[in-house]
Amino acid sequence: MKRLLTLFLAALVLLLPGCAGIDSDESFTAMDTFMSLRVSSDNADEAALLRAEIERLDVLFSPTSPGSDIARLNAEGTAEVDAATAEVIDTSLALCKELDGALDLTVFPIVEEWGFISKDYRIPSRETIEALLKRTGYSAVAVEGSRVTLPEGFAIDLGAVAKGYAADRCVAMLREENASGAILNLGGTVAAFGKKSGGAQWTVGIADPEQSAQYIGYVSCSDKIVATSGSYERYFVGDDGVTYCHIIDPQTGYPVQSDLLSVTVISDSGLRSDALSTALFVKGENGAADFYRAHGGFEYILLTKNRQVVLSDGIRDSFTLTDSAWEIMG
Ligand code: ADP
Ligand code: MG
Repeated sequence: MKRLLTLFLAALVLLLPGCAGIDSDESFTAMDTFMSLRVSSDNADEAALLRAEIERLDVLFSPTSPGSDIARLNAEGTAEVDAATAEVIDTSLALCKELDGALDLTVFPIVEEWGFISKDYRIPSRETIEALLKRTGYSAVAVEGSRVTLPEGFAIDLGAVAKGYAADRCVAMLREENASGAILNLGGTVAAFGKKSGGAQWTVGIADPEQSAQYIGYVSCSDKIVATSGSYERYFVGDDGVTYCHIIDPQTGYPVQSDLLSVTVISDSGLRSDALSTALFVKGENGAADFYRAHGGFEYILLTKNRQVVLSDGIRDSFTLTDSAWEIMG
């Protein structure tokens, strides 16, 4: 939570200049993270409307609130869900497929076993992980209209995609209202909508994984969603001295071990940016480059343990490095 606060502050510090003319703003906690919304629109209640929508989705998606769509689905194996829940699951399953399973909504039993939900962290035995892996596999999830059905013993979690989906909903609402500009920070998933009041592009800070409340550089953009996933956001150090992060490799059932500290993805879709930032963290530096060449439709910024910044081709002109401790590769 502290780390998320600093992430939030880092983005905020960078976003403050040039925000004159903003009509409404909101700061609150939802989806287990800090969020801040700043909107320039004719409707002075716009930020409050966006907040209400995010809070509605949070209630539907929470795997731990009894009675939520996801809690009911996981408890009963099948459930009638809200149109938004059905839509986010359906669209995310297509992304799981496109990503060859590096994103998998069904890893939840494994995420739970490692203690990432209860925060009572522990290293499961290899046998336990092997047994839990048999209860995973996104392709076995069925969505028919508003009914979602899971195989016996399965459970899902939208943690990797919920903030991105919420960002998309907010952007759709801003379009309907003809808002001129907005910057929405949903705990590290940032929607840069329209332009600043002076007509300039938004600048979105890229958090320094090593230092609180700092950023190593920023991206200039407009009408994009910038999502970051990092091993530094939620992790624990086991009795074996190994650091285990909250992103699981669905093939092994173990937290990802890699040279990457964070992956930022920039695209037109919040769901895509959020899904890809998690999945490219699983795929690693080479896997991310291969996926970029084969699929496209997004840009990325990778931060490595050697303080190197790896950029995809299309983001070079929009990224500015501000911290000399880091070096741009290639
Ligand atoms: P954050 O919530 O910090 O922004 P992510 O968007 O990267 O992080 O999502 C991580 C969350 O998604 C984890 O807390 C876990 O609940 C879930 N998760 C972990 N690994 C995977 C995976 N490979 N595929 C789908 N969901 C995952
Ligand atoms: Mg994600």
